[in-house]
Amino acid sequence: MPQFCVVTFGCQMNAHDSSRMEEVLIKSGYRATSEVEQADVVVLNTCSIREKAEQKLRSEVGRLGLVKRRKPELVICVAGCVAQQEGDRLIKSLPQIDLVIGPDNIPELPALLANIETGGLPQVRTVFDVETPAFLAAEPSLGPSLASAYVTVMKGCNERCSYCIVPHTRGPERYRASGEIVAEIKRFVATGVREITLLGQTVNSYRDPSSALEVAPGVGSKQFTHTRFPVAAEDESEFAALLRAIAEQVPDLMRLRYTSPHPRHLTPSLILAHQELPVLCRHVHMPVQSGSDRVLRRMIRRYTSAEFIERTAALKEAVPGLTLSSDMIVGFPGETAEDFEASLELVRTVGFVSLFGFTYSQRPFTPALKLEDDVVDEVKSARLARLFDVVDGNKERHLRSLVGSEAQVLVDGPSKAGNLSGRTQRNEIVHLSAKDAELPGCGVGAVVQVQIEQAFKNSLAARLTRIVVPARSTIERPLTVQSTPQAAPQRRQLQVI
Ligand code: SAM
Ligand code: SF4
Repeated sequence: MPQFCVVTFGCQMNAHDSSRMEEVLIKSGYRATSEVEQADVVVLNTCSIREKAEQKLRSEVGRLGLVKRRKPELVICVAGCVAQQEGDRLIKSLPQIDLVIGPDNIPELPALLANIETGGLPQVRTVFDVETPAFLAAEPSLGPSLASAYVTVMKGCNERCSYCIVPHTRGPERYRASGEIVAEIKRFVATGVREITLLGQTVNSYRDPSSALEVAPGVGSKQFTHTRFPVAAEDESEFAALLRAIAEQVPDLMRLRYTSPHPRHLTPSLILAHQELPVLCRHVHMPVQSGSDRVLRRMIRRYTSAEFIERTAALKEAVPGLTLSSDMIVGFPGETAEDFEASLELVRTVGFVSLFGFTYSQRPFTPALKLEDDVVDEVKSARLARLFDVVDGNKERHLRSLVGSEAQVLVDGPSKAGNLSGRTQRNEIVHLSAKDAELPGCGVGAVVQVQIEQAFKNSLAARLTRIVVPARSTIERPLTVQSTPQAAPQRRQLQVI
């Protein structure tokens, strides 16, 4: 049986695509390995959001080229955003590569590999499925049983943020039918998954192509003082209706999250869904990018800092205790010291408890290329460090405030120290004691009640008081297409910072 290894760079979207590639390959008779050296096929699933991520791909291909000298039959496949962005330029500049495949062409992977393995020439397949969008269904029975899983609800992006390459690499927005989404979540829950995260580049712009959803309560109701009515009406989507359909049709699901929403679509109907659906977690990741209106305009984000603050405040008011995290870019072209201070001020006002911060990186095919990249690297790095200091302060205060309180934790694996750890509904990381881990029923997938005893810089330590839902010792699996039992695929994940 030929062996494959998928190496993932970048975001959850790529991790999700990697799982689909693994499933497609296993169904075609390949076996998963986490050892690149043992693999007959290595798939590099790439990210191009920042230049550094692209450089990582080039060095990884160089390293694999050395393996290929010893093992000429090794097939090197490049997938994901760099594949889509570069197409045949990749094969021209890196001749070690055998196959370049775009995110919409994953189902064709086995046929393309078969062609190469029987002597075919290097190939490039990067075609968007704009006319007939398709979403590869996840097959939980082929992968490892986990506490949490991702379910894609849309692909592509219709926003045109001036710094961002995603609209170019992922194409226009295409949505998945709500019935397909609900069916996939049911399949995950049947295999023991407790928590689902809905995935999309602007996940809350969702509209159901099958028109099967009812209008959600709250659509078009209370408006925001900082957003003009016609604009606010345009921002409504069917995302709240989708959340309600999931909550109603999959009652055994314990936690529902989503990423990444766009602030524009944080509408009254979505806020009401958060207020009324207990399954929705009390934590939302809401990318803001900057706190300066001047920079937000140049970024083409289509909201002001006042709108962002008003909408997130309304969400926090509707759901007491809800926490927010965000993405921010520092050193965008033309960002002054004053603009940057406005970003810090917004972080303090909204009180983000965590944040992914990035220094601006020029990307091909983006409108911001026309602007001069005039903030020097040292200034960008210094601003990023200051930004993290402010967020760390917010986080430490928040974690300290939890000592002595109770929480429910979904156990998701052993921590670095070897003890069990998990996350609360608000996404705080909680470590359990070694003694707790020995309790029957306390394993990955268990939901446990804990008392928070100590706060660290990034996490909490807690004492288990009750097992709410035990871990499943045996997972009932639906029939699979596999003829021989296989080890669950193990993924190598390269974090790109
Ligand atoms: N769709 C999501 C959104 O709207 O926030 C996420 C897009 S992207 C995969 C994740 C993050 O990368 C963005 O939120 C942004 O902060 C960052 N990013 C995107 N392009 C960038 C660039 N050219 N330079 C630096 N950071 C960038
Ligand atoms: Fe990129 Fe903006 Fe789309 Fe997010 S919303 S993927 S940042 S263009």
